[in-house]
Formats: sequence, structure tokens, C-alpha cells
Amino acid sequence: MTKVYNFSAGPAVLPKTVLEKAQNQLLNYKQSGMSVMEMSHRSAIFEEILEHAKAQVKELMNIPDTHSILFLQGGASMQFHMLALNYAQGKDVAYVDTGNWSQKAMDEASRYGTVHCIASSKDKNYSYIPEFSTDNLEKYAYLHLTTNNTLEGTAFTTLPKVNIPLILDASSNILSYDIDVSQTALIYAGAQKNIGAAGVTMVIIRNDFISDVKDLPPMLSYETMIKNNSLYNTPPTYGIYIAGLVFDWLQELGGVDAMIKLNTIKSNTLYDFIDHSDFYSCPVHGSDRSLTNIPFKSPNETLDAKFVKEATDKGLLNLKGHRLIGGMRASLYNAFPLEGVDALIAFMMQFEGENH
Ligand code: PMP
Repeated sequence: MTKVYNFSAGPAVLPKTVLEKAQNQLLNYKQSGMSVMEMSHRSAIFEEILEHAKAQVKELMNIPDTHSILFLQGGASMQFHMLALNYAQGKDVAYVDTGNWSQKAMDEASRYGTVHCIASSKDKNYSYIPEFSTDNLEKYAYLHLTTNNTLEGTAFTTLPKVNIPLILDASSNILSYDIDVSQTALIYAGAQKNIGAAGVTMVIIRNDFISDVKDLPPMLSYETMIKNNSLYNTPPTYGIYIAGLVFDWLQELGGVDAMIKLNTIKSNTLYDFIDHSDFYSCPVHGSDRSLTNIPFKSPNETLDAKFVKEATDKGLLNLKGHRLIGGMRASLYNAFPLEGVDALIAFMMQFEGENH
């Protein structure tokens, strides 16, 4: 098989050693005679898998005992709705609008509450992180931020200190970004970028952040999910197992700090190259740039399409930008190797030489 580098924004590249371990254990997990896929979610052996995944991510993210770790289904998109159903009903809630995903989150919240957009970067196509005041937020039931904007390539470098519940959509930079969990009420992230396989959504929730809404559907009630340790119904068992393997891999490599260092090298290498080129450009400037999703363009759309096609032929896959943004996008999540960035830059130089 020819070597490929997968720049997909998600589902995204997984560590090869994780896939190999899963392959080794596929038919017979730890002499159980069964695949993890075939196990009862109420068996002792699966309970061990679940508790192991939780313990590993608790250590990786320094999650305090005040918070629970849940593995749910429905993607980050269901969290847009679930958190609003639990916490926005009849209330004023604050959102920072940093792009496509925060807008979707706001749309869901407006089904239940009054959404106040306290800052937005829409005026410049979401190419920066807007500033906002943290004074006078008491009137809101919570503040929602998207920590990394997967399409637009921006990210919060620091989180605001606020005295209302802080809710984060960290789907595209969880575990590659330092989050002080103790400052948050709820963090959610789809697994398909930095956690593992699609189908699992990790939620980290402060135990006392319980909804006052009565008679919530049990599948959409955080309280029910906390009480049942994510086992109210059949959870995404295989996805939780893969997440555990990814967490083991992260621990071996030195955890989130090691990832931040590695991702900084990877992304700086690419940003530096783009910034020194008069052929390629990146719409995001300065400290608001994402470590994990890097959008860039060539001089025109015809060349962008040619770039994506020729890159694909060379094994540089999934570089087409999101349909709403255009151009190209390189997603450099934790499992993406540095040599893939070098391969991309070598191709970018060649393409520029042939098309300038
Ligand atoms: N939020 C962010 C920041 C995302 O990047 C995505 C998906 N890429 C979503 C939410 C939606 O996630 P899902 O497809 O898991 O519902």
C-alpha cells in the first residue's frame, strides 16, 4: 500500500499503534474468547474497559472529582440541543459566535431560551477570535464557547474567567489544548478527531450542574446519565474501548503537554511556510490561529481544485477545505505525524513552482 497522509478534519487519522492493538485484540480480547463488540455492556470485563478509559482521561486532563466523565451518543450536534434543553429553558444564555459550529449551537439554544450573542467575528468571515467583557454576565444561565473552530481555523488561546457556568465545545482541540476543567461546568467533544472513532461523544460535567427542568427525556438528561455512569442504555462500547486505547497512547507520549509541543511544531512549520510564500495565504492571523485546523488558499479557485486533485494523487488526502469556506484545510490532530507536514510542504513548493 502506498504511504498516505490523512489531513481529514474528522473522522480523522488515528495512531497506527492504536489500530494495531485493536486489530490484535479484535477477535479475542484479553483471553475472553470474544471481541469487545460482542460483550455485554453490563459485564465486569466491559466495566473495566469503561473505568480504564475514564481513569486515563481523568489523569490526562486533570479532571477533578467534582466532575463526571460521560460517553454519550448523538455527536457534538446532539450536545448543542441537550445542553440547551437542560439549561436554557426560559432563560437568557450567552454565546460567543466564532463560526459555523457556534452558530449551530446558538440555533439549538434558541429553541428553548433567549440567546444573547455577546461577541462575534462574523464581520471578518470568522478569521479572528472576538474580544468580550466578562463583566455583567450574571444575568445569563451560562456562557458557551467553541474552543477551536474546525472550519475557520481559529482557536481561543486562553479561557475567560467567569462567574457563571462555562460550557465548551472542544470537539476539535480536546486533548491538544490545556483546559482548566475546574473552571468549567460542561465540556463536550465528538470523538472522531482527537479521541477515537466516530459514534462517541465525551462529556465532562460538574456534578452539581444539574438541570432544574422536570421530566426531561432520560436519554437527554445529564442527571440520568451521571447517575447511570453512561450506562442508562447500551453505550457505544467499541468506541469507548478505542478511546481508552487512544488515551493509553497519549499517556505513553507524555500527555497533553507533549501534544501541545508537538502540535505547535507541526502547525508553526506549516504557518511559517505559508507566511513566507506569496502564492499561498492563510486568512487567520496572529495568536488566534488554530493548532489543529489550518485553512489556506492558492491564488485562485481553479488552482485550489488542481492542488487538491494533484495532492490526492500523491497520497496527501482530504485537503479540500470545507464547502462553506473553500480553499484547502490541513487538519493536524494529535495522531497526525510531523513528516506528513514535511510531505505537504514539499508538495506545496513543487505545485507553486509549476503554477506560479
Ligand atoms: N463542533 C465542532 C467544533 C465540530 O468540529 C463539529 C464536527 N466536526 C461539531 C461540533 C459537530 O460534531 P458532530 O458531527 O459529532 O455532531
